[in-house]
Amino acid sequence: MTSLTSVPAHATATAPPPEGRQKTSLFCPSCGHESPITGDWDVEQTADGRAYRCPCCHTVISSRPEN
Ligand SMILES: [Zn+2]
Repeated sequence: MTSLTSVPAHATATAPPPEGRQKTSLFCPSCGHESPITGDWDVEQTADGRAYRCPCCHTVISSRPEN
């Protein structure tokens, strides 16, 4: 409850968010390889969703929601 600036929800000057490092990064627990989720992971579609295979050690890192 510390919002001092009252910006209307539909302000006209809404700049798009910068293409920064907002992307989620994945981290391989086996070899320590780290890369954005859009990086060099080998993405596999599984029954549960997506799995990301580490390009270094080929460990599959499942990226599932916490629930
Ligand atoms: Zn790895």
